Amino acid sequence: GPELFGARGNSRGWDITDSGDLEGIEAARAPWRSEVFHAAPMIAGPVVGAAPLTAVNPARPEDVVGRVVHAAAEDVETALAAARPWDAPAEERAKVLRKAAELYEAEFGPAFAILAREAGKSQLDAVGELREACDFLRYYADGAAGLTAPARGVFACISPWNFPLAIFTGQISAALAAGNGVLAKPAEQTPLIAALAVRLLHQAGVPETALQLLPGDGPTVGAALTSDPRVAGVAFTGSTETAQAIRWAMADNLDPAAPLIAETGGLNAMIVDSTALPEQAVRDILASAFQSAGQRCSALRCLYVQQDVAETVQTMLFGAMEELALGDPWDLATDVGPVIDAEARQGIAEYVARARTEGRVLKELRAPNEGHFIAPLVLKVTGIADLEREVFGPVLHLATFKAHEIDKVIADINATGYGLTFGLHSRIDDRVQQVVEQIKVGNTYVNRNQIGAVVGSQPFGGEGLSGTGPKAGGPEYLARFTKGETPAGGR
Ligand code: GLU
Repeated sequence: GPELFGARGNSRGWDITDSGDLEGIEAARAPWRSEVFHAAPMIAGPVVGAAPLTAVNPARPEDVVGRVVHAAAEDVETALAAARPWDAPAEERAKVLRKAAELYEAEFGPAFAILAREAGKSQLDAVGELREACDFLRYYADGAAGLTAPARGVFACISPWNFPLAIFTGQISAALAAGNGVLAKPAEQTPLIAALAVRLLHQAGVPETALQLLPGDGPTVGAALTSDPRVAGVAFTGSTETAQAIRWAMADNLDPAAPLIAETGGLNAMIVDSTALPEQAVRDILASAFQSAGQRCSALRCLYVQQDVAETVQTMLFGAMEELALGDPWDLATDVGPVIDAEARQGIAEYVARARTEGRVLKELRAPNEGHFIAPLVLKVTGIADLEREVFGPVLHLATFKAHEIDKVIADINATGYGLTFGLHSRIDDRVQQVVEQIKVGNTYVNRNQIGAVVGSQPFGGEGLSGTGPKAGGPEYLARFTKGETPAGGR
């Protein structure tokens, strides 16, 4: 049978192009097809809780995925009062985190089922997500022993719905590896996978007072945590606006030295010049713009194609888009699933409707009638300055440029103020070197797609409006969760 996950280094995961692996996935997921999962505050004390809510599948809203009890204000207080740093020695913490990675891998059946049904993750994305979560656990476990400074205390970890297992686990495991306690607030859209993760972390041996889960909304949970002086630092991934609000909340109430470690939005570009290999560029454009239904902060938003090859690339791209399978992510053939919820769909649909009245839709696929789908589409723009904001969905903007305009293109990309990912397709070495030097982003990818940074080898994080650093999955990340600032050194 297939070898599941590597015992050392990065998770090897499943090969979803292998029919044997696929059968294994189907069998492991099957019992969880119509399970109603549960999430509630997991705190070291009695739970009060708010009125239960129903979580539904974004691809099939009639599919009830879970019952969710949000934390009441009293629960946040109980958790804050009970929270303690994790005072076990570094080797012990590392051992427990490695054990958690094993448990995550063993629970791939329910994990894949929840990722598909709660978060709309295609199977390819679900595999990547579980692997990345395990990679974070092991990478930060490896780094624990090299830390020289003590833990800060208790961290608030506020995570996004687009990587509801990987980023959720990444923040928590970093804080824990450094010896902190954690109060985790999962995104409102994805508490069920978070509850599974916390159950497994507790089962692995993380003490209840060192890791508590507070599902709930921003005002009740997030704002209460980020303004409470018992919190010694905040790890946050989400929108730039929310990060700014957290910064204000912290400024009023927390120790001025309390760190905010934030990963936020992006307006990411790719340049394809006339020397690029069109087949390869098109494959990488598709993945960068449309995988995960464009719901990655790393995703490609604005593609610049050099005019001489624009027609060729465009024709090939539109042809390749026709081959994308849009639908229920439970179906293993699905490439592009739904967007996260009705509100997200509505916001993107309004943006697209405006572009349509302006006659800027160059290509659009058809979305299923049911579910919160946005069909992948391409909009014409003159350049990245036309993008008013980050549209978090499968919407690609396309611009062309002439050879002599390349410096202006780079200046425009840098002028957005964001700086997360950037892609370049070119076979001229001098140009590659020049562009890479000039572009101001956290993660640059040359002649490949610009999503899916790998823990350990491709530390991920942005500049400017895109984040505070240090990069997640990189050697400097853990030290930020301690009272010292000295990087722990490489893995
Ligand atoms: N690390 C992910 C990637 O490289 C993106 C994370 C995010 O969307 O927040 O695609």
